[in-house]
Amino acid sequence: MSEKDQTGRYLVAREAGAVKTVVQEVAPPPKPAPPVAPAPPGPLQLPRAAALSGEVPIGGHRLPPLPYPYDALEPYISARIMQLHHDVHHRTCVEELNRAELALQQARRLGNFQQARWWEQALAFHGSGHFLHSLFWLNMAPSGGGVPADPALRAAIDVAFGSFAAFQAQFSAAANQVEGSGWALLVWSPAAGRLEILQAQNHPWWSQWGALPLLVLDVWEHAYYLQYESRRARYVEMWWHVVNWADVAARLAMVRSVALPPRAGYPPVS
Ligand code: MN
Repeated sequence: MSEKDQTGRYLVAREAGAVKTVVQEVAPPPKPAPPVAPAPPGPLQLPRAAALSGEVPIGGHRLPPLPYPYDALEPYISARIMQLHHDVHHRTCVEELNRAELALQQARRLGNFQQARWWEQALAFHGSGHFLHSLFWLNMAPSGGGVPADPALRAAIDVAFGSFAAFQAQFSAAANQVEGSGWALLVWSPAAGRLEILQAQNHPWWSQWGALPLLVLDVWEHAYYLQYESRRARYVEMWWHVVNWADVAARLAMVRSVALPPRAGYPPVS
């Protein structure tokens, strides 16, 4: 829980009662209180399988509600950033994804694929944007931060990276090294049976084919510039305070049984 003192700074209590002071990056917004997001849908939930299993009608993607109020991640991410990021940037991804899907449906009906290449690029770009933002909201929580409590997640991190500290250092470096706009991603590789860290430029759909994102960090400027300006590294450092490790552990448990070749082997040749 966060409390402001009279100078506008936040006193942040973390594990074991440790208290440290975090200076907010910009002046706190004046009263009245920040706008409130639509009512959250109860406890954090993984996206319903329908979203990824072909049950969304063509052109029928919808913007999912934020699972917490706009100001829930303050002081690390401001309410204004969350409002613009979700209500404007993510909504645009959804609208453009739907537009691309409907255009491709029309092209199939007419047998006219002259512009399909353009729409397929839009499908990849905005589809990735919709998927990654949906994941990003759930990857964060007001009660987040610290280290993962889940022993299976901790063990998987140790196997892949040596230690949690080494994982965190590599992930932060990946986020800081993304050229221009993009993402840092913790993924499960079904081909290796291991966790990996990847960078993505813009929104590519899984920057390693087959890899399954578990934890994603948006480093587009719209994700931090209002609050941190050009200090992306400061944003990345503060972002660790809101990571929802329970969400990451649930995702790992869900996907780790997926095995793709070569890990899964190959059927015998007849
Ligand atoms: Mn974004």
